[in-house]
Amino acid sequence: MASEKTLAIVLRVVEFSETSCVVTLFTRDFGKVGALAKGARRPKSPFESALDLLAVCRIVFLHKSSDALDLLTEAKLERRFRNGQKDLSRLYAGYYVAELLRELTDAGDPQPDLYEAADAALMELEGSTELARVVLRFELTALRLLGHLPALSGCAACGQSIVLAGRHPFALAAGGLLCPTCRPGHRQVVSVAAATIEVLRVCAARHSDGWRDITWDARTGGELRGVLNQYLCHLLDRRPRMHAYLGLLGHAVR
Ligand SMILES: [Zn+2]
Repeated sequence: MASEKTLAIVLRVVEFSETSCVVTLFTRDFGKVGALAKGARRPKSPFESALDLLAVCRIVFLHKSSDALDLLTEAKLERRFRNGQKDLSRLYAGYYVAELLRELTDAGDPQPDLYEAADAALMELEGSTELARVVLRFELTALRLLGHLPALSGCAACGQSIVLAGRHPFALAAGGLLCPTCRPGHRQVVSVAAATIEVLRVCAARHSDGWRDITWDARTGGELRGVLNQYLCHLLDRRPRMHAYLGLLGHAVR
């Protein structure tokens, strides 16, 4: 058993026994980790109050080589999710970031860039950047880093580049836009306006701060959520639990 040190975001804490918890962590260097935290529920816990949902901790854990749970031996709080505005929707958005990390990643698959993106998104949620903007940027960055970003520039089937005008067919199963030639025969296709695709393109772009400045109206906001929610449901084979709490993501962003 190797002892490993890394930074981690707390995604889930489940009571395991009278004194222990099982925690799901998204670590910077080892990806998603499930670990037993012995004594975490004791009044004088060795982890103090570090194991709060969405907290960032510096952890030490014993990595089990088999399928057994890893063993958390140390967790020191680096940053708590403060939700300073006491805005429930920002807390729900934080839970949604945690849900996507849990559901879209596999245990033990290191994704350091995704860790940084999640850490940055949680900090933005503690600040004043519009909620819908932060969530959209994180969703698209996560999809890009995990190889699930839908085709937004070229046809998902043949690769031919697509010039935006009017509305375009977006195939959920084929993974993105379709050109007129490839459109026939595809099922689970939704129609998406050029303005909506433009927002998706800008917010998905790597190494660009365009996502901070682009604005969209309520109609585009509604369509953005419609297509992205359906795409994520298709990818996960179910509706993300937090979608029910995040209705206002479809509002205008100016
Ligand atoms: Zn095509």
